[in-house]
Amino acid sequence: MMNHLQDFILDDEDRRFRAEARAFLVRELEPRASSIENEDSWDSVKAVVRALGEAGYLTLMFRDLYRGWLTKPGLTHATILSEEAAAINYAFETTIGTALSCAYPLHRYATQPVRERYLGDIVGGRSVGAIGVTEPAAGSDISRLQTRITFDEASQEWVVNGLKRYISNAGVADVYIVYGVTDPAAPPGKGLSAVVVPSGTPGLTFPRRYTFMGRRGCVVGEVEMKDVRIPRDHVLGEPGQGTRIMVSMFNFERAILGGSGLGVARAAFKIAQEHAQTREAFGQKLGAKQLVWSTIAEMSWRIDAAELLTYRAAKLYDAGIVGKELAKPAAMAKLVATETAVFCADKAVQILGGDGITKEYGRAEQLYRDARALPIVGGTSDMARYLIASTDLPTLKPTL
Ligand SMILES: Cc1cc2nc3c(=O)[nH]c(=O)nc-3n(C[C@H](O)[C@H](O)[C@H](O)COP(=O)(O)OP(=O)(O)OC[C@H]3O[C@@H](n4cnc5c(N)ncnc54)[C@H](O)[C@@H]3O)c2cc1C
Repeated sequence: MMNHLQDFILDDEDRRFRAEARAFLVRELEPRASSIENEDSWDSVKAVVRALGEAGYLTLMFRDLYRGWLTKPGLTHATILSEEAAAINYAFETTIGTALSCAYPLHRYATQPVRERYLGDIVGGRSVGAIGVTEPAAGSDISRLQTRITFDEASQEWVVNGLKRYISNAGVADVYIVYGVTDPAAPPGKGLSAVVVPSGTPGLTFPRRYTFMGRRGCVVGEVEMKDVRIPRDHVLGEPGQGTRIMVSMFNFERAILGGSGLGVARAAFKIAQEHAQTREAFGQKLGAKQLVWSTIAEMSWRIDAAELLTYRAAKLYDAGIVGKELAKPAAMAKLVATETAVFCADKAVQILGGDGITKEYGRAEQLYRDARALPIVGGTSDMARYLIASTDLPTLKPTL
């Protein structure tokens, strides 16, 4: 259990929630972590998503839906949940982030009938969502999105055409939130809309599933839409509001990703800490060697820095700071926590030596493979740096 010095941004209620979430995940996730990793088992991931939904944890960010004991549920608690899950299995944790990123725009921007049709099942853990932003020609640069969403006056339907790649839950999700261009005449990055595409819609296919170096158990693939037709009310907000919806989603997603980074970093640190205190070399415990001692110190301060930034961003959001004002703290949280995860996983492997790169000895090698995705997903570290400095140098516009 963390001491109060480490998590002092959190209050007693937050800490009680952490203890409860940890116990829940130890009970529901830990026994399945091995099948998720070793059998690449999506079924195991899904079973825990269901348990999480049934226990009400996917409503944490929606006060009108939440039925638990927290007086002010919010992003702080969603981030704690994410941290605790990632400390056990990062692949599973990614499904929490995706579920919330899907639920958030449905909750905030969908029409009442659309919200009723999809949101309850997602936050109840009965169905799985996916977010489709990235395309072959458009990753960090969303002004290059090629997906077209046009309105067919005759049938009063939206028609979607495009190819998305690197989409978490592609093919296993029940509902897809797809971003595309509704106004091709608008300036680059504008004229975007977000629409809700249910699975089973004719023209929706999943041509490819990727194999990654880590995150086993997660399904990530391509989503192709060829003349996919959806009802008029399946657009989120007003047509053309897509960029705004996407930015608001990214802001809270980055705090949650801060939580994932922290969970992975903490797990790696624990392994390194134990090994440094038990393994002997050159007449002493390994940790007593100055080089290892110094590495442990660096892992430790980086984790604390990541934790402070992550929960600062989450607390700001819960205090009502959103939009542009949240962009910098959220980017800092994501940048520092995810880079810390990579740093700590790498150092844990190094401190363990041969044990660090074998599957026979604990989870160090898994954490090392899993961590590497963190500075890429949800906006890369480079894009986070851009966001941070753009508020520090307001008179300059860098060439991206
Ligand atoms: C496991 C996984 C799951 C994912 N899940 C989803 C999902 O569910 N939905 C979704 O929409 N997307 C998803 N993504 C996509 C993810 O958001 C993108 O991979 C990410 O935004 C980067 O885009 P890209 O891969 O096209 O890289 P690019 O944008 O092509 O960038 C390549 C490299 O160049 C750097 N770079 C780009 N521009 C600049 C610049 N101006 N200056 C300096 N460096 C620059 C980037 O930081 C990066 O390091 C997922 C990706 C992965 C790996």
